[in-house]
This record gives sequence, C-alpha cells and structure tokens, in this order.
Amino acid sequence: MGGEAGMGGGEALYELKAVSKHFRRGPSLVKAVDEVDLIVGRGEFLVIQGPSGSGKSTLLNLLGGLERPTSGQVLFRGKDMGSVAEGELASLRLRVFGFVFQQFNLIPTLTALENVEAALAPAVRDGARRRARAVDVLEQVGLLERSGHLPSELSGGEQQRVAIARALANDPEVILADEPTGDLDSASGAEVVRRLEELSSEGGKTVVLVTHDQSIGGRASRLLLMRDGRLFPA
Ligand code: ADP
Ligand code: MG
Repeated sequence: MGGEAGMGGGEALYELKAVSKHFRRGPSLVKAVDEVDLIVGRGEFLVIQGPSGSGKSTLLNLLGGLERPTSGQVLFRGKDMGSVAEGELASLRLRVFGFVFQQFNLIPTLTALENVEAALAPAVRDGARRRARAVDVLEQVGLLERSGHLPSELSGGEQQRVAIARALANDPEVILADEPTGDLDSASGAEVVRRLEELSSEGGKTVVLVTHDQSIGGRASRLLLMRDGRLFPA
C-alpha cells in the first residue's frame, strides 16, 4: 500500500495529502518523497525508519518548512504550508518547530548555557529572562550541572542533549529530529531517544524522529517505515 498512515487517536497536527518532492539530477528525476499521505497527531512520538536515500530528511524538511513540496499539500494546523509566505515560514521555524540534527552544531566557543541562550536571542530581549529560560531547558534534559562547560568538554550524548535543549528554548510545539543518534554510541543514543520520548509523553510535544537505525522504533508511539520515498506501516 502507499501508506495512508493514520494516527493513534488525538487531534491531527499535520495532514499530508499526496505530498511529493522531486529533484532533478542530470537527466533523471529523483522522487525523494513520492505521494505520501500522513497524519501526525498532537503529542505523538512518531519514528520513521528507513535506509539512506529513502527520503527521510526530505520528508522532515517538508514538515519543518525548510522545503516546499513539488506537489500535494502539507497541512499544519489545517493550513497549507506550501502557500505560506516565506516570512511566516521563517517565524514558524523560529517559534513553532525545533530542529535536532545528527551533527550537534553547537558553537564551540560558547558554554552549554550560552549555546542555549544564543537560540533565545532573536525572541527574548531580556538577558535575565534568557538565562532563566536556558537554565530551565537544560534542566529538562538533565544537564544543568554541565551548563558551564564548553562543547569540547562534553560527551557526544551530552552535546546532543544541549542541542535538544537549544531546540526546546523557544518552547516549540514540534520537535523534528534527523538522525539524532547518528554520531553517538548506542548507550548515549538510547539516552537521547529516551529524552525525546519524554518530551512527548511528559512535555506534550509532538516529536518526529527519522533514522536509519532499526533499534530506535521501540520507544515510538508509532513506527513507520520509509522506502523509496514512500511510507509503510511497520
Ligand atoms: P535520507 O535522509 O533517507 O538519506 P534524503 O531525503 O536525504 O534521504 O534523499 C532522498 C533522495 O533525494 C536521495 O536520492 C537524494 O540523493 C535525493 N536528494 C535529496 N536532496 C536533494 C537535493 N537537494 N538535490 C538533489 N537530490 C536530492
Ligand atoms: Mg537523511
């Protein structure tokens, strides 16, 4: 089947209708995302597992407003993101979507706390409020005692948890994680996945995680498989 992928109860946050994203590569057309139908419910922890090149990053970028579909609709809160003005998309990316990537992308010269504060700078002008908020989110990922350390003084798993704190800084509704455990050993990876799962189960966030790692699906509230641009039930 093409993957009419429903949600497990709850209200729809995203609804994707026949969404495709094609890239031209020389003479050939790459169907990175191919006619995907998907509903993501509020507060879900959705894991999408698939091999390299199956279209996971492209799909996540569509959910995060980093790409626009070639055809089809990405409805977010009922609104078609494909027709939203660039300025509004930028504001969604800043305030409503939090991104976590394989590379932690922390600023090496800033401490953990300062890295999180930097993410707050565009939205929160007041320094004391920025600090209080940064402390709060570092505490949520269990890293308060590490807040004065530089990235180089932290383990990979700790750096990724700082990156999660940074993604949480502006209190996004959705966390979009692209191979968040790709650079981690299995124990640190499991800890990072546990933290992301908690954001959904305890924090009420909607979390979408894409990965090639077959061991991650176990903590998901729903697991889908991606193959050749299409989604399938696990
Ligand atoms: P995954 O994240 O599962 O590895 P991607 O979404 O990165 O998959 O890529 C899916 C397919 O789309 C691959 O064949 C990739 O080469 C192609 N692709 C992705 N982005 C681009 C792009 N900007 N230009 C051309 N081809 C792309
Ligand atoms: Mg990818």
